Amino acid sequence: MTTLAFDALEYRADQSFATARYRYVGDEQSGWTVERDGKPALALGPGYRALRVRQCGVCSTDLARHHLPFPLPQVIGHEVVAVDADGRRYVVEINASHEARGVAHTCAFCQAGLPTHCPDRVTLGIHDLPGGFGPWILAPVAACLEVPPTIPDDVAVLVEPFAAALHAVRTIAPRADERIAVLGPRRLGMLVVAALAAVRTAMNRHERGFDVAAVVRDPALAGLARTFGATEAHVLNGPPEALARAFDVVIDTTGNPDGLATAVALARREVHLKSTHGQPACGLHRLTDLVVDEIGIARFPREAPVADSAPWSALRTGPRARVAWTCAKAPPAWLTATADVQRGDAATLAAHYARATAGLPRADVVVADSAAGVDAAIRPRPGHEQALVRPRGLLLLHADADTSTSPLLAAIGGRGLRLSSSRCGGFRQALDLLASTPELARLGERLVTHTFAGRDLAQAFTVARSRGCIKAVVQQEPVQ
Ligand SMILES: [Zn+2]
Ligand SMILES: [Zn+2]
Repeated sequence: MTTLAFDALEYRADQSFATARYRYVGDEQSGWTVERDGKPALALGPGYRALRVRQCGVCSTDLARHHLPFPLPQVIGHEVVAVDADGRRYVVEINASHEARGVAHTCAFCQAGLPTHCPDRVTLGIHDLPGGFGPWILAPVAACLEVPPTIPDDVAVLVEPFAAALHAVRTIAPRADERIAVLGPRRLGMLVVAALAAVRTAMNRHERGFDVAAVVRDPALAGLARTFGATEAHVLNGPPEALARAFDVVIDTTGNPDGLATAVALARREVHLKSTHGQPACGLHRLTDLVVDEIGIARFPREAPVADSAPWSALRTGPRARVAWTCAKAPPAWLTATADVQRGDAATLAAHYARATAGLPRADVVVADSAAGVDAAIRPRPGHEQALVRPRGLLLLHADADTSTSPLLAAIGGRGLRLSSSRCGGFRQALDLLASTPELARLGERLVTHTFAGRDLAQAFTVARSRGCIKAVVQQEPVQ
């Protein structure tokens, strides 16, 4: 058994920080108890190892943490570089799933290749599991990746957001000659620009690549975006009409509820949502949960799709796609002939799928006919943080939907725009790309504008919220 005792600054619901006394008692095989101010606060099973934090980045999710549906106070921070007793450096994937902990399980989500959506997971520095703004973390054993010596600390601390950026780029799958825009690039968005540029460079070796545009309000950020690899930069002052539908895909990295409507106005093919600000946007109330679950929204096909070209053909986990039909009108005969269609309200259907004994206990696809129906498909039952639709699943908007309250849904129903979203990405691919792309070696020196000592966490948050800061990093005391 190991016992680690330390003081750590917790983030509280009123956005202040306060010190609490922590003790971790346990080990990798038998599990851990986390004590807070002398009382048991969290019982973790096996599959965690204690690592000493070296540094941790401040991201927009941290700054909006009080809007997220997880308990506070908590030691937050999830962009961690940590060291073991031998001084080896690690970055840590944040979802403590069965798979990440390396424990035996019968979890449908981990078995379906969706460990980042494991319903039993806690999440480093976001949901229950103490994070990297304290001196010690308990890291899921299979989630710790050693940092190659060629990657410096100031780049290693960007691996978590860079992996998320790269995952977004893979999700939108840019095509030759497309124009891909990053809206509001700052701490995350500049990494999306860098990831797009790196993928573009690789693509250019075989075929024509795509253009990488940055759309900013602050002219100083236009120049910065070019240093990260943007091939064009646009300063948008005032309404977005000047750039209306100028881009095939727009990735909204603003972290701001108003960003989505702008992204919708600018995009032809797809809007990709990367913001988890926890607030309503475009007449929808569950978009942060949509991003957490990596759900997409598209238009329901107006006629029967040919063969395997249905929007859900890649999503089904059983022999026939599971389609939850929540619309007032009846489903078309071609749909009921080819898919397993269940009709009802979202809460009843969610309870139905939750009882599934094979595959994921969710629908593959939900068809809705209103903004309220879209919200209900994302979180149908109060008190249950569970969607009706599966992670990485699809919400389809019926042709008769009332879209008057949502410019996003109006664009989806009216002109066939798609919304996609993504959250965490794989660290292995991110580390490989960082290690093999010389242009990315200076990522840290370009992005990290401010560094703070661990005791100055409140100041780090104040500065991170200011215009002059792109990325703030918090450093813990060196190991004694
Ligand atoms: Zn983050
Ligand atoms: Zn699991």
